[in-house]
Amino acid sequence: MPRERLYLFDTTLRDGAQTNGVDFTLADKLAIARMLDELGVDYVEAGYPGANPIDTSFFSERRPMRAHVTAFGMTRRPGRSTANDPGLAALLAAQADAICFVAKTWDYHVHVALETTEEENLASIRDSVRAAKARGREVLLDCEHFFDGYKAKPAYALACAKVAYEEGARWVVLCDTNGGTLPHEVEEIVGEVCKQIPGDHVGIHAHNDTEQAVANSFAAVRAGARQIQGTLNGLGERCGNANLISIIPTLKLKPEYAETFEIGVSDAALAHIARVSHALDDLLNRAADRHAPYVGESAFATKAGIHASAIVKDPATYEHVAPERVGNRRKLLVSDQSGRSNLLAELDRIGLAVNKDDARLGRLLDEVKEREAMGYAYEAADASFELLARRLLGKVPRYFDVEKFDVSVEQRINAKGERVTVSMAVVKVKVGDDHLISAAEGNGPVNALDLALRKDLGKYQSYITGLELTDYRVRILNAGTEAVTRVLIESGDESGERWTTVGVSPNIIDASFQALMDSIVYKLVKSGAPA
Ligand SMILES: [Zn+2]
Repeated sequence: MPRERLYLFDTTLRDGAQTNGVDFTLADKLAIARMLDELGVDYVEAGYPGANPIDTSFFSERRPMRAHVTAFGMTRRPGRSTANDPGLAALLAAQADAICFVAKTWDYHVHVALETTEEENLASIRDSVRAAKARGREVLLDCEHFFDGYKAKPAYALACAKVAYEEGARWVVLCDTNGGTLPHEVEEIVGEVCKQIPGDHVGIHAHNDTEQAVANSFAAVRAGARQIQGTLNGLGERCGNANLISIIPTLKLKPEYAETFEIGVSDAALAHIARVSHALDDLLNRAADRHAPYVGESAFATKAGIHASAIVKDPATYEHVAPERVGNRRKLLVSDQSGRSNLLAELDRIGLAVNKDDARLGRLLDEVKEREAMGYAYEAADASFELLARRLLGKVPRYFDVEKFDVSVEQRINAKGERVTVSMAVVKVKVGDDHLISAAEGNGPVNALDLALRKDLGKYQSYITGLELTDYRVRILNAGTEAVTRVLIESGDESGERWTTVGVSPNIIDASFQALMDSIVYKLVKSGAPA
């Protein structure tokens, strides 16, 4: 049976850009648009031309891509003609394949916010859709506050949607703008709408204020809607929008949806979705959510006990989908609770073949337990675990020695009379017979130490150029009688791989130093640097 086409509309660059602390540059927007296009979404809503210089310049030229580039804006203002509305003119002039108008559909908002009549609001929708159609654009109407409006006055909310559809809008999109509508309500109301407007012209735009934006999107699809709007990683103001990174794998991998619907995302693109999710976090300079469904670092992590031994025998026992399908991987956590089978499976994944009767296996297990008692967390620090295992098996060359380092923090008053803090680090490294000294300033002592360490590693320098620190986490632990600091550092490189290393010490600089060293050595091992 042929599957029905379901369309994906991404609004990361418009609604997602409303998030607190998110400020996309034009270069960011172009990079994200390209990423979305490669992923296979059908529409990329890139911004609001005329509202700010970046969005205006995005739409100042054609951005050729497979997805429909969509410009967002308001319907004509009440009491004006379409020919005499500068906002609408900017929108119509935008170099876009599609125009998405936003319009009020809740009578209360029409009266209070727009201060106009219900009839004039309907006329504004009709005129705006007509004007955009006349310019040869595909038209969408975002029905703002649709669900609240429908509850207050169903006939009027429906009339707004219908007037757009009848005027030739390709899609009318039902927005849960406040994000408070529940799945059973969405299903019921979308079902009613689809009796009046064919479902293959109806979309859903859900916000996540009750943590149900994804569930609401699926409820709408069950009731007949055939377009889902959302954002990468659920970015969006307040609690965010529906998360396309969760929606796409569910559509592709759960038989109920996969057998009924076809989407523009290929299996090959799905296998890169974890990378897409992480790339957005990188761009926003924030740490990825380790517990994100499908793509999080912990999404397929199992800790010891009966779960882990069962998962080694058959992964399907504790995994709802295969991690490789979404570009993630299975992780058996190596921790003080883990047994030999767990350890063997992890060594196998790393590519270290060890016989299960090898005496070194017991020594490694003891070492892990001993160090975890001191505060090390190997289940969170895969790269440090790998180095520990490789060292025990004699497989890590001694690339270089740090003979000495010195870190200073100075606070002083600068020429402008402001209080400033400057950190400086000096590192003495021995590489082969060469003694190298590097110094660097940083915005903090760890940053300075990192910069100095990586400044000059002599013949190894070329192997670490792509190395980048992506996250730094500190925790104070009570191990035994004294407090110690645990530092976890997440790093990445040009290949897109990420790894985490750990350091523990009563001194935060020393703990950071250990984690930094592990990260550099891991990168050298991974790059095949010669001894
Ligand atoms: Zn929204």
